[in-house]
Amino acid sequence: MQPVRLYASQAGKWVYCPAFPRVNNQFKSPYDPQAAIEGTQSHAVAEWIMRGRVGKMPQATPEGIACAEAYVLRLPDGAVPEVSLSLESLGANVGRAKVDSLLFDNTYADIMDYKFGKTPVKAKDNWQLICYCVGVADRYPSISNFRVGIFQPRSNNHDERETSWTITRPEVLNYKKQLQHAARRALDPDAMCVTGSHCLWCPGLHACPAAQEAAEIACNVAAERITRVLTDYELAADITRLQEASERLKLRLNGLYAEATQRERIPYYEVLPGRSKTIWKYEPEVILGLLELEGLDIRKPLDLRTPIQTLNLGLSQDLYDELTEVKRGALKLRKSDTKIFNEVIKNVKDNGSATR
Ligand code: SF4
Repeated sequence: MQPVRLYASQAGKWVYCPAFPRVNNQFKSPYDPQAAIEGTQSHAVAEWIMRGRVGKMPQATPEGIACAEAYVLRLPDGAVPEVSLSLESLGANVGRAKVDSLLFDNTYADIMDYKFGKTPVKAKDNWQLICYCVGVADRYPSISNFRVGIFQPRSNNHDERETSWTITRPEVLNYKKQLQHAARRALDPDAMCVTGSHCLWCPGLHACPAAQEAAEIACNVAAERITRVLTDYELAADITRLQEASERLKLRLNGLYAEATQRERIPYYEVLPGRSKTIWKYEPEVILGLLELEGLDIRKPLDLRTPIQTLNLGLSQDLYDELTEVKRGALKLRKSDTKIFNEVIKNVKDNGSATR
């Protein structure tokens, strides 16, 4: 097994889930590689601007260049790009960190992180930034106050594209103890999986028994019938919560169905052809006009009669063939055995576990 290595950029995961570094070693990153390349390129452009635009500008997309320009404009004068910091005081298994920009004097440090991704990230209580503070605090013992910021020009949250947080040295040292403890726990070869919101984007999510169990429990709790009469607000809140969950799950399930129907077979399921439908080939007005010429009125209160109904009204087969087309139904997935749920779950636990 590869030795466990911890990185500041993933601290938000290994602080909460000691098994994360091991799982991360086992599976490839789930992130979009193209987005990662564009992010790295934009960071390189930002560094190039901060170092005085010497030499050729690194390659980047127009958006990557624009975002890098906007990021550099936000920085305080004198900020230094790409500062490498040792985090070995957190543990021998913690790798060095690179801070996107750092400005400091005797007592104050300003640390800025540039994020190119769209998933909103905040500066407050951000473990990655806390790691940076530890690195800066270790290197410069006179610094007593830290300001950490995140600039995220493409964030999906338009109102919070830039956030910051101030933190004192005693607070940093307190967090440092928590990080040291977490780094030690992550070294344990039997480190446990601990679920929570940090499971989002975990590369082993699909095979993590703890996450699957948490999903099952959440599902059971959400489906539990509430036996007392809810207030109006409670009722509205419950409906909203379940509607939202069901929409999101439906979306995900449709994605999985689409993927499954592309494969020749998957265990426990059979792929069935969808039901085909004969539909009118042209817009309703065109069909109506053409059929009126044939003496046929196929108007219904809200719609047109179907091609089959029109055939029964006397439409000739030749015209039917000319005006209609067959729309293939989407492939369908059917469970080949309705009692399989426990078996599928057990097989994933026995054969597909990421964390054993
Ligand atoms: S999915 Fe599993 S391994 Fe990944 S962070 Fe969550 S609990 Fe840890």
